[in-house]
Amino acid sequence: MKTRSLRVAFLSAEVAPLAKAGGLGDVAGALPKALEKLNIAVLIFMPFYGIVDAKKYKPKKIIGSLTVAIDGGDEKISVYETKLPASGVRVYLIKHKFFDGQDIYTGGRVHDVRRFSFFTQAALTACHELGFQPDIVHAQDWHAALAAQMLKTRNAADAFFSKTKTIYTIHNLANQGITGPEIIGYAKLNPNLPVIRADARNGDINFMVQGILASDAVTTVSPRYAKEILHHYQGAGLDNILRQRRRDLYGILNGIDVDAYNPKTDTAIAQRYSLATLQKKEVNKIALQKKLGLPIDKKKCLVGFISRLVWQKGVELIDDDLIKNSNCQFVILGTGQKEYENQLQKLAKKHPDKLRAVIGFDENLARQIYASSDIFLVPSRFEPCGLTQMIAMRYGSVPLVRATGGLADTVRERRKANGFLFKEFSSQALHKTFQRALDVYYQKPKKWLKLQENGMKEDLSWKKSAKEYVRVYEKVLKQA
Ligand code: ADP
Repeated sequence: MKTRSLRVAFLSAEVAPLAKAGGLGDVAGALPKALEKLNIAVLIFMPFYGIVDAKKYKPKKIIGSLTVAIDGGDEKISVYETKLPASGVRVYLIKHKFFDGQDIYTGGRVHDVRRFSFFTQAALTACHELGFQPDIVHAQDWHAALAAQMLKTRNAADAFFSKTKTIYTIHNLANQGITGPEIIGYAKLNPNLPVIRADARNGDINFMVQGILASDAVTTVSPRYAKEILHHYQGAGLDNILRQRRRDLYGILNGIDVDAYNPKTDTAIAQRYSLATLQKKEVNKIALQKKLGLPIDKKKCLVGFISRLVWQKGVELIDDDLIKNSNCQFVILGTGQKEYENQLQKLAKKHPDKLRAVIGFDENLARQIYASSDIFLVPSRFEPCGLTQMIAMRYGSVPLVRATGGLADTVRERRKANGFLFKEFSSQALHKTFQRALDVYYQKPKKWLKLQENGMKEDLSWKKSAKEYVRVYEKVLKQA
């Protein structure tokens, strides 16, 4: 079979469950498993952050010392190997002082652009050392976006990569990796390349732009987002650049890891259940109400919201009016910008019987919220794909989302309806749809059950989308 020998180096700043801050981690922890099932030989490369639980994942040192040239000097890395849980997919962790003892993101813009450009070159160097000659380097988001340029410049003379093609996946245009021109020297890029010259006109280098223009194909994480970003209103300043690549731009819908997110086997929740035993779900609701000190009432509609707390996510639509006027309880889990954290904590104080806001990142609590909620709220301003609405469906929680990006691609009100949508980004639009959802919940239980069942029956796996990625790999490999 033709795909048997296809080799893919998959570069990502996040890989669940080793290190995750959002959806990028979920994708990098799941798509390679689906690719492997299609006979793709995929190796994942990620930084070895201090937060990776070495006791749990037991990474083995496989390269003791390897030189990566950067900024005129030589840096030493070592490389560790582990596997994605419940799979044979190998993960190579790049160990260097940039990542030792550190979280995924440090918040320091200069530091992060340097450490991720270093990671990208280190991963390519490790490929060579390992004798893994990739047909495709599949770079994820701005962190790995320089891969294509690095292959075309500093590694251009290296016959090892002469046939390698690059795919760049945009997970979110909101974060582009913008930095001063000194990165050109630091990452040893060729300043005379047309892309770099065009990008550096105002003095800055934008990693995302480099990835979009220099890669053989560009993908993004839902068909709707792939169309939206070609327009000024969703292009985050890059719509013009993206239009130049329109023929090589593919929107491939994310899946979720249906083995890792499964209410039938999830050990983090109080009561396991499935489509056939859906009535047991309420045990989880009672457990969560108890845990968080909310009034215990299995009939009360429980609304979940789990999110990075940033502008994109529409946190301000969860306002006092919504809480006051809705006959339900809200459980919110998130971390991010202080203003949103404060807004939610204030609401929780004002409505102690109705709302809990847990500020932090907590994988187990997230699963408990998916398992106990009836409605799952995703009021995003824009959403490249969104995974929380899909995870919610898997757990029989009905998504109520804004009709944008991947949310609009996955949630339907008609034909096998699985949730609720509102269009306009406004409190009124959300409130109206919210009341509509509550009416169905309280007054039409059969219809509600159908929504839950339809969501749980969706094929949310990576199977179909992984095949689409393979088609893109094969297409670029045919190009001269
Ligand atoms: P994004 O990538 O923009 O953050 P997605 O919907 O694609 O949004 O993915 C979010 C992922 O991160 C989901 O798996 C969600 O459960 C998880 N997540 C987000 N915030 C938290 C949190 N505070 N605690 C635990 N998990 C979280």
